[in-house]
Amino acid sequence: AAKRLQGKTILITGASSGIGRSTAFEFARTAPKNNLKLILTARRIDTLKEVAAKIGEEVGDGVQVLPVQLDVSDPAQVKSFVGNLPEGWRDINVLVNNAGLVKGMAKAPEIADEDIAIMFNTNVTGLINMTQEILPIFKKRPDGGAGDIINIGSIAGREPYAGGSIYCATKAAVRSFTDALRKELIATRIRVMEVDPGQVETEFSVVRFYGDKAKADAVYAGVDPLTPDDIAEVVVFVATRKENVVVADTLIYPSHQA
Ligand code: NDP
Repeated sequence: AAKRLQGKTILITGASSGIGRSTAFEFARTAPKNNLKLILTARRIDTLKEVAAKIGEEVGDGVQVLPVQLDVSDPAQVKSFVGNLPEGWRDINVLVNNAGLVKGMAKAPEIADEDIAIMFNTNVTGLINMTQEILPIFKKRPDGGAGDIINIGSIAGREPYAGGSIYCATKAAVRSFTDALRKELIATRIRVMEVDPGQVETEFSVVRFYGDKAKADAVYAGVDPLTPDDIAEVVVFVATRKENVVVADTLIYPSHQA
């Protein structure tokens, strides 16, 4: 698997915490001697720099890490993203569209317009705009193009729950977009894949309960949620299959989740 990462450039959105951060480490660990380039993006640039430094400490030479501040919900930032990358960093091979958030849990009639906009602009429009920004790089490669797009969806996109209507709708949108794009790109070597986590314990888990850690902890009491590393391993797995193998759609549950 490590050989398949040789010389590649991997771009991860939302790499400052949780699943994105773990995915950055997992790619770095998988290919430590393979001349890998990692572009890590998120809004919190200082946190990204810390992640980059930690990866450097852990894996040393062989992996170069570039932290770049990027708000995926701002189309202007996304559309100038590739053009603003330093020379030598634009030949991206893998895009992990991971940035995503939930703004509180509320019944549909009570959800604020602002929260609806933030969730859709980040989870859906942000992911689509990032894909449109990177796809031309993939398409320039021979035989119709090559590259991997790995979208982080959610069980919420398949099984909507009361109180999560908007978040669930954003993840259902990710699912439709991913599947349609995969079909549009059939017969190229551009793979479009989705990884859908079940319950993962991250900063996200607390945000879901408006920062009420006690409430979040109560949901996880007595259960053994997935860790971000569990998802990261799957992301790296799908990215390191043979070129003709498309792991189109993966759902990962913790063993307790029905
Ligand atoms: P975290 O809150 O730990 O991480 C979310 C990441 O997204 C952060 O790095 C954050 O960085 C980034 N982010 C948020 N908004 C933006 C934005 N506008 N522009 C750029 N980056 C942004 O949560 P998770 O790791 O759990 O979430 C990662 C993905 O996994 C999300 O898409 C989420 O929906 C999905 N998921 C999570 C599950 C869970 O149970 N935790 C279950 C199923 C799916 P910053 O704040 O620095 O911008």
